[in-house]
Amino acid sequence: MIVPDSSPAPTPASAVNALSLLNSVFGLSSFRGSQEQIVRHIAAGGNCLVLMPTGGGKSLCYQLPSLLRKGCGIVVSPLIALMRDQVAGLIEAGVNAAVLNSTLSFQEASDVERRLLAGDLDLLYVAPERLLTPRCLNLLGQADIALFAIDEAHCVSQWGHDFRPEYIGLSVLAERFPEVPRIALTATADELTRKEIAERLSLTDAPCFVASFDRPNIRYEIVDKQNSLNQLKAFIAERHTGDAGIVYCLSRAKVEDVAAALTDAGIPALPYHAGLDASLRARNQDRFLNEDGIVVVATIAFGMGIDKPNVRFVAHLDLPKSIEAYYQETGRAGRDGKPSDAWMAYGLSDIVQQRRMIDESNGSEAFKRVSIGKLDALVGLAETAHCRRRRLLGYFGEAVEAENCGNCDNCLVPPKVIDGKVIAQKLLSCAYRTGQRFGAMHLIDVLVGRMTEKVTQFGHDKLSVFGVGRELNEKQWRAALRQLVAMGHLRADGEAYGALKLTESSRAVLKGETDIWLREAAASTRNRAIRSKSRRGELAATPANGATDPALHAALKAWRSEIARQRGVPAYVVLHDSTIDGIASTKPASLAALRGIPGIGDKKLEHYGEELIALVRATAAES
Ligand code: ADP
Ligand code: ZN
Repeated sequence: MIVPDSSPAPTPASAVNALSLLNSVFGLSSFRGSQEQIVRHIAAGGNCLVLMPTGGGKSLCYQLPSLLRKGCGIVVSPLIALMRDQVAGLIEAGVNAAVLNSTLSFQEASDVERRLLAGDLDLLYVAPERLLTPRCLNLLGQADIALFAIDEAHCVSQWGHDFRPEYIGLSVLAERFPEVPRIALTATADELTRKEIAERLSLTDAPCFVASFDRPNIRYEIVDKQNSLNQLKAFIAERHTGDAGIVYCLSRAKVEDVAAALTDAGIPALPYHAGLDASLRARNQDRFLNEDGIVVVATIAFGMGIDKPNVRFVAHLDLPKSIEAYYQETGRAGRDGKPSDAWMAYGLSDIVQQRRMIDESNGSEAFKRVSIGKLDALVGLAETAHCRRRRLLGYFGEAVEAENCGNCDNCLVPPKVIDGKVIAQKLLSCAYRTGQRFGAMHLIDVLVGRMTEKVTQFGHDKLSVFGVGRELNEKQWRAALRQLVAMGHLRADGEAYGALKLTESSRAVLKGETDIWLREAAASTRNRAIRSKSRRGELAATPANGATDPALHAALKAWRSEIARQRGVPAYVVLHDSTIDGIASTKPASLAALRGIPGIGDKKLEHYGEELIALVRATAAES
């Protein structure tokens, strides 16, 4: 059964309790989307599957029922850093939470076990491999368990990119604890994964709550790759000075180079990839989480379980493998709901490189076919002249009514689309007449009639296609060529180092039977136009009751850094950016006023209330 995201029905008593807990513990005034339905369903003892995008608010879906039900909620989570930060945040909010994983000493672990048996814990985060040990399963058998929450549930999927073999073993939960509610959560929405999760975790009869996967605060933008490093530097300098961001690259060597280049350009950047020494990797990750304004340059080894709410941009310098991967990686931007950018530089070399990686992989033919299909879908997203958000959500099966989302590059500055029939014919016949053995550069040289060494060597200046393409410049030809590859009318041969060959569909194009529409190579002014569009207006429109006081804002951030340092937790565990913004704009003069700001629950008020009010007063007195 699929339960769409809809407005909640009338409120029974348990829901009232849920709402008051939401307010007193988390300092939030209302549920988001289907959170309330989910909380109520689990609190009443039901199982379910929850599909919600990153930043959608999955944690509350199991944290609240754990508090509402008798016993301790057991949360299975694959990443230690994520567990640690979630637990730190819960303890800050006054919840009895703990972790059980390999970082604990024997003594610390025994202590947690004792607290669990004594009924002293509301929430316990456990690594899957730990949970599956006979010792741990026995322990759980003796304890009062409120529920099992299986976070990042897509890790059970063997087809997915985050497969974790130990997740398969979690099927034991349904067998050993049939009476304990199970809730599986993921931000991966495709049908195949959903089915696999339901089967493996015995949730085929349970309702599936599907939230909208839209992330309205993320602006999608895909630019033609020229000199991607310079493009990236300009993007950061013009739009994200001082912001935290993630830059994804495909290889370790490139990660190092890009991090060094950004550092040279005065941007505080740190590398992260699986080849780095473990302690350096951990240190870089900690600095990214705890300090303001750090850019991490990383391979895909970085990111899962990165819960940092104020990542302002995610940039891709290389094409990911699939829309799923693109969506998951870009989804790490803007968890806090504030305007954020997903920016990617993309070119023909990306398609060639990804195709080659698939061809050279030792996967089965079936696996390669699936991989190519996924790559094609992503290339389609990169090439579309229409709304990217619509296309992205459509891929996940979500229909979007509005044609124009107003927050992607194509909607903000629609690209020019031209009739490319003749251009395509010239390109294809050039590839054909030169023997389908050459890459993009040479084909373009022939078309524009450039006498290069290669042209002379092969006598290509004698061909009828030599110089027939002088109406376009090199950049325009490059864009046209890339699009023909993306449409499948030309194929970049992985084995022959990018030699461009004709395909089944080429003949019809050559005969003029296929309509070809090409988006014109973007002028650099287009990027500037996107940059300037509504950025300011949008920022001003973010919720604020009054004008933000910059001095107070800075003082609050400095105070937060100090508290985070003292307590050894990330700054956002102390207070979220949105809470800091709320205080800096409303300037509360009393504890009661402070309590009304989202993110300030009872415990935070008790711990920090006086200090925060004092800060507000002191800053007001100074100005
Ligand atoms: P997910 O696990 O789905 O990525 P989280 O549970 O970490 O998302 O929540 C993302 C952000 O949204 C957090 O900052 C959280 O405090 C906030 N949030 C969640 N639910 C609500 C709500 N009902 N009202 C306001 N903020 C919320
Ligand atoms: Zn759009």
